[in-house]
Amino acid sequence: MRHVQYVVVGGGISGAILLHRLASTGADVLLLEQGDRLGGVIRTNRFAGALIERGPNTLQTGNEYLQSIIEELGLSDQMIATDSAAHHRFVLRSGALIAVPSNPRSFIETPLISLKGKLRLMREWFSKPNVQGDRDESIASFVERHFGRESLTYAVDPLVSGIYAGDPKELSLRHTFPLLAELERSDGSILKGMMRRGKERKRSGEPRRKRNIFSFRGGLQAIPDAVERKWGEKIICGADVKPLERTEDGWRVVAVQEGGIEVVRAEKVVLAVNAPVAAELIEPVGKKLSETLRQIPYAPVALVYLLYDRSAIAHPLDGFGLLVPGEEERGVLGIIFSSTIFPSRVPEGKALLTLFIGGMRQPDLAEQSSEALVALAQGEAANILSISKAPEMAEVTRWPTAIPQYIVGYDRILAGLEEGEKSLPGLHLLGSYRGGVSVPDCVKSACELADTLSR
Ligand SMILES: Cc1cc2nc3c(=O)[nH]c(=O)nc-3n(C[C@H](O)[C@H](O)[C@H](O)COP(=O)(O)OP(=O)(O)OC[C@H]3O[C@@H](n4cnc5c(N)ncnc54)[C@H](O)[C@@H]3O)c2cc1C
Repeated sequence: MRHVQYVVVGGGISGAILLHRLASTGADVLLLEQGDRLGGVIRTNRFAGALIERGPNTLQTGNEYLQSIIEELGLSDQMIATDSAAHHRFVLRSGALIAVPSNPRSFIETPLISLKGKLRLMREWFSKPNVQGDRDESIASFVERHFGRESLTYAVDPLVSGIYAGDPKELSLRHTFPLLAELERSDGSILKGMMRRGKERKRSGEPRRKRNIFSFRGGLQAIPDAVERKWGEKIICGADVKPLERTEDGWRVVAVQEGGIEVVRAEKVVLAVNAPVAAELIEPVGKKLSETLRQIPYAPVALVYLLYDRSAIAHPLDGFGLLVPGEEERGVLGIIFSSTIFPSRVPEGKALLTLFIGGMRQPDLAEQSSEALVALAQGEAANILSISKAPEMAEVTRWPTAIPQYIVGYDRILAGLEEGEKSLPGLHLLGSYRGGVSVPDCVKSACELADTLSR
């Protein structure tokens, strides 16, 4: 039986970065991963000569933790920016694709919001400081109160779908867009608050931080692969961890592998798996914590990749992609123009589209058969982008628990998680259901936990 200081269960980005940071301090750590490689939902594959991302597609700059990790893993020279043609984003309104306005002039001219909707939005300037007190509020209620219904329908609802595959009526504003909650408290009006912040930044000489979107030449799998190369002897893949057992001085972790069973004793265990799996692994030792974890809803998402001859698509595909408001009643949440974002990732003369289906809006659609998903995706893509021929290749990925939902009342869940960890010394929880869902957020949470554990 092995004895180690730390066992990390789960080798998604959260577990992989925690392993890297702990191992870098010389800690005795072992990572157990169920799958055959690190990365979790980050998975880059080649398909019909194209590079496809089965989970996250791109990352955003501006997170110092992620920047440090990229440097530590020697990946800086593999970073690639999105193509300049991928600048625009589109939203579907009444079947037409409309570019999201990016400056005051395009805002005045855009048909995305009607004149009445724009006047309502500008009236926000006169919003009074929060009359709701410190009550948690949904994104939908907040946006409607400040900017009106049309802004919610055609700007915020598609955005929330794009980030969380979520429902703005269910998600907590405070836990998804904390800056807006803060601006309401400080300035009453969000528009006024943003202008004040801009002026303050100018006065202090602080440069405007521009966030860029990027990936790596070989796809996002580059990060977990680099961790695997660096710390391979501290990683066991194909290890399916079973519910935890406590011992007098720590934890007994049992993992089932193809060749037998691995039993490890550890002083500390970090569960870097999603909330439903963490609930299952904790059940025998912490019923209450397990129940709290089970209260976290997850949005299911299916991704369909369609590869076309470029000439078959009438739309210029001159942007990052498009988002679909719920009001449009379509079968897709959005479409990414993958071959515009990274043109070198597809064979010459081809176009690759990635369609997102399901989410909290239509969870059942994500669970359909691959054939049904491809048929739905193909029909929607043809209709929205005027495509005259069938795709040359189609591929599907399904994530039944894709994105955790930070719902109204999430404070209570977070408090339950904290209390549960306190009641089980040596047990720590890590993952996208706390501290933010994006990859940079997960990296930050992992680095912060590594710092806490190393103190
Ligand atoms: C479709 C999709 C698109 C996304 N797009 C973006 C994007 O463009 N940009 C962005 O920043 N973020 C995006 N995200 C969010 C981000 O990718 C995730 O939040 C993040 O990668 C989650 O990482 P994690 O390590 O916490 O969890 P996971 O990736 O779920 O990793 C958990 C790991 O635990 C392992 N495991 C489970 N059970 C066991 C067990 N019993 N024993 C051992 N191991 C086990 C799993 O195999 C897995 O490897 C996207 C997410 C999805 C699903």
